[in-house]
Amino acid sequence: MHEAAIVRSLLDLAFQAATKAGLSNVSSVNVMTGKIHHLVNEVLLLHFDLMKATYNGFERAVLHIEEKDVIIQCYACGQTKELDRPFFICPNCESPDTKLIAGDELHIISIEGSST
Ligand SMILES: [Zn+2]
Repeated sequence: MHEAAIVRSLLDLAFQAATKAGLSNVSSVNVMTGKIHHLVNEVLLLHFDLMKATYNGFERAVLHIEEKDVIIQCYACGQTKELDRPFFICPNCESPDTKLIAGDELHIISIEGSST
């Protein structure tokens, strides 16, 4: 499953970062996900809660998800538009000559916790 693999890799990265920062008691992991990935937040949260106990110091961690809308810029008409459909066609002039400028994010923003 898509979400499970993503949560596993986010937790691996968060664990490395927490270890490096000396955090032994992580309270939250804040991530940014672009809507282009079509992730279901409830499923991400479920997998996070199932997997976190296998990471030392993450037993009480909470996952926070910030979702980013898919935004394209059109080379034909110059407009920047939010896309609400899965086609990279300008909603303004229907040109397919567009560039993705937001919505493909998938990374950790920050990790919070304490060292005690
Ligand atoms: Zn356009």
